[in-house]
Amino acid sequence: MATLTLDVIKRFAPDNKSLKSAQEVADPRKWKVLGSDPDGTLWGEYSGSSTYSIYVSASSPSSRSGCSCPSRKRPCKHVLGLMLLEVGGHPIPAKKLPDYFVDEVNSASYESTWE
Ligand SMILES: [Zn+2]
Repeated sequence: MATLTLDVIKRFAPDNKSLKSAQEVADPRKWKVLGSDPDGTLWGEYSGSSTYSIYVSASSPSSRSGCSCPSRKRPCKHVLGLMLLEVGGHPIPAKKLPDYFVDEVNSASYESTWE
């Protein structure tokens, strides 16, 4: 299990603009639910103009992530924002990833390489 760092997030980000937007997403008040699955998958429901389901499995050497938002950027700012929350030290409670959640996000999931 690799440790998520700001450097890793920067490498994941498709461009600088995404990273900037992600910093706004990384606001704990905008997350309706946050969880950290025992297998290391972070997940949550973000409530901005709409509500989106996001997950990211941050296990080395490849990371799998997904978001139900319509953005064509992968990973999108929500995935990056979730990772920023974790790196920023915001407590994410241990909670199993719900089954419905994976179905919802699966069609929009994305794989990227850790290193
Ligand atoms: Zn998204």
